[in-house]
Parts: sequence; structure tokens; C-alpha cells
Amino acid sequence: MTKATAAALVLFSGGQDSTTCLALALDRYARVETVGFDYGQRHRVELDQRAAIRESLGRSFPAWRKRLGDDQVIRIEALAQISTTAMTHDVEIVADGRGLPNTFVPGRNLVFLTLAAALAYRRGIKHIVGGMCETDFSGYPDCRDDTVKAMQLALNLGMDAHFILETPLMWLDKAATWRLAETLGGTALVDLILEATHSCYLGERAIRHDWGYGCGSCPACRLRAEGWRKYIAS
Ligand code: ZN
Repeated sequence: MTKATAAALVLFSGGQDSTTCLALALDRYARVETVGFDYGQRHRVELDQRAAIRESLGRSFPAWRKRLGDDQVIRIEALAQISTTAMTHDVEIVADGRGLPNTFVPGRNLVFLTLAAALAYRRGIKHIVGGMCETDFSGYPDCRDDTVKAMQLALNLGMDAHFILETPLMWLDKAATWRLAETLGGTALVDLILEATHSCYLGERAIRHDWGYGCGSCPACRLRAEGWRKYIAS
């Protein structure tokens, strides 16, 4: 099966990275489904933006609308139950001794990839696309290329399958991710991502900066703001 006729499942959170991955998949694959995870995150803004982003993509890009298939949101209450991170609990965002912020939810991407693969298995989908990146990132070990490659091996062995875990942003910095969006959908896509996607860990959506909405000071906002500045300067 060539990519032109193949299907993909995109891990779609509603943030800048996963929206860029969704656009890339819509550009490449004949049928694209999306999956999101409600893991008891403190702020649901990002999840709430998902439907709006899917709708905007379909409205602005008719060729993509035909390819955009089902969406599923899977609830995983266990992650919040067994962790006390700043993503799931009302605690201040701080870094540990290794520089890893307490927004890291241990096991999160491992669980996400496992459930996405289980869904892809059921739907007969081979390509699983995620926005994991170890270039401009918060140091989360489950975003690393080695972790994703190891998961691909484990999932294929454990399900006797031939999934391909695709991480098109792995070696791109945030400025290059904006450039990729521009290549895929021009300024219309860049504007859509600016306006509709959400990255801020604090769920702030009242303040609009030139790089989008957010508190401007959490690690996710800082990464997004720096990437945007670098992108518009290039
Ligand atoms: Zn923020």
C-alpha cells in the first residue's frame, strides 16, 4: 500500500505540534483519523480546541476535508490517580535536580502510544503519527527518538503487527515546525495554528500574544514564543 492510499492515525492533542502533524498526515495520506486523551489534565482548553481545529482545517482546506475521518477521545483516569504532576494537580511548575519540569507525567506517551496502537490495530491502520520532538523540548524522556523506536518494536511484537510510528517533528526546532506548517498550508495554516491551537500549561486563553494565546511564562509558552520569534526573523 502506498502512502497515497494508506491510512494514518494522528495523536492529536490540540497543540501546535500535533496540529502540524495532522496537517502533514492530511497532505500525505488518503484517510486520516485522530485520537486524543483525556487524562485528567488540569486545563481542558487544549482538548476543547480539538474539534474547532478539525473543523477549521476542513473549512480552509477542502482537499483535506475529504480525508479527515473519525476522532476519538480516550479517557485515562489512572495517570492522574498515580501521579502528582503539575499537569494533573494544582502545584507550581518547578524543575527537579535533573532539570526535568514537574509537568512531566511519567508513562504518559508510553500509554498514549499503546492505546493509539490498539485503536489503529482495530481500525486496520498502519501509520501512527505523533508530535514527539527531542530538539526544542522540555526534556521529557518519553519524547526521545530512542523511546519511540523502542515502543514501535514493543508494539509490533506485542500485537504481531507492522505499525510505523512516525514522528515528523523529532529533529525540527519550533521555528522549523512553523516553517513546515507554512510549506503545507501557507499563511492560512500558520494563522489557523496561531489562533486555534493551545500550548500553555496553565490553560491561559485570555491573553493573545503575537505567537498565540498563553500565560507567556510557563515552559510551553516560552518554547512557543521563542520558536515564533525565530521563525518570523528567518
Ligand atoms: Zn503558559
